[in-house]
Amino acid sequence: MFKINDNYQKLPGSYLFSTIVKKVREYQEANPEKNLIRLGIGDVTQPLAPAIIDALHGAVDEMGNAATFRGYAPDLGYEFLRNAIAENDYRARGCDISPDEIFVSDGAKSDSANIQEIFSVENKIAVCDPVYPVYVDSNVMAGRTGTYDPATEMWSDVIYMPCTKENNFVPEFPKTAPDMIYLCLPNNPTGTTLTKDQLQEWVDYANKVGAVILYDGAYEAYISEDNVAHTIYECEGARTCAIELKSFSKNAGFTGVRLGYTVVPKELKCGDVALHGMWARRHGTKFNGAPYIVQRAGEAVYSAAGKAQLKEQVAYYMKNAAAIKNGLQEAGYEVFGGVNAPYIWLKTPDQMTSWEFFDYLLATANVVGTPGSGFGPSGEGYFRLTAFGTYENTLAALERIKAM
Ligand SMILES: *Cc1c(COP(=O)(O)O)cnc(C)c1O
Repeated sequence: MFKINDNYQKLPGSYLFSTIVKKVREYQEANPEKNLIRLGIGDVTQPLAPAIIDALHGAVDEMGNAATFRGYAPDLGYEFLRNAIAENDYRARGCDISPDEIFVSDGAKSDSANIQEIFSVENKIAVCDPVYPVYVDSNVMAGRTGTYDPATEMWSDVIYMPCTKENNFVPEFPKTAPDMIYLCLPNNPTGTTLTKDQLQEWVDYANKVGAVILYDGAYEAYISEDNVAHTIYECEGARTCAIELKSFSKNAGFTGVRLGYTVVPKELKCGDVALHGMWARRHGTKFNGAPYIVQRAGEAVYSAAGKAQLKEQVAYYMKNAAAIKNGLQEAGYEVFGGVNAPYIWLKTPDQMTSWEFFDYLLATANVVGTPGSGFGPSGEGYFRLTAFGTYENTLAALERIKAM
């Protein structure tokens, strides 16, 4: 009789988004006349920019012509895309990352879930709390997290680094040194980030204790402040301790198109073994590349027209973010984030739990958000609103919240 990977049985149900859907459906059925505004979504809503659509059309035509048809992509991704990434995302920022250190993929969710498999199951992971759930769950599936305590909602072998208003959402160095440190900056769900100097301290710490940093930069395009690093490789010493994961989902609206990349610097080693070679082997064995058509669309993200159009798209969402942040502040809420990320993280009023505030907001303002406690125990008492809606809906939601 076959046996299953028992680690999957240890996963607690992730009820967050299904519970939200259920509660919203029940409310709408009971109140069919109410017009709900959804500011809970973590998905973009603006259509793909014209420069990207042009590139997609051009690549589709190439695929229909014997002279320009392409089959399997090269293992690391097409050179035209890796060159554009190295030039624009790294060299233009003074970072020494070469095209052959870039691995093109179908997105940052899969890379951030898969990257753990090149590390020992003995390693201890550290995550921020609250956190993007993929990092912990992928390590649960691999058997790296020990046992789950439903009372504390914590795993025995995971080091949690609380990020709350008390520490300004800056994680503190753990008491016991971790082996693998997940950092997502700017952060989902809190919308906050670290300064470059604070990130440098994490790079120094990782090099000192011999840890690897798995750096998720999915929201890099939303950075507006000068003292924030656009890539971890702006920090000195990052080439010996950091892997960077990037996505085209939030900067270019590729959530349904699918494209991302991972950077593994050649100096990043465990003893004599370079992680670059390990990830190359893993990529070559388990992945057959992002589609040619999509890699051409990714190249267009770095064209002059693409850059200009996407700057506008990001500005559109960030105008929403500013409207939410200012509107909530005027209404007396304590709010965080929204400056370098499309997320606003608010403190629930009157000691309400995250779910109590969810119900209150739904019933009173007919606005849907995301309870902070769904992202980890330290998210309790907080609530996430996203800037990915339309401007009109965002303003309408704020008027309703102000009237509560
Ligand atoms: C949206 C998001 C991603 C992007 O995932 P894709 O698979 O590239 O769409 C990665 N990390 C975080 C924290 C995100 O919120």
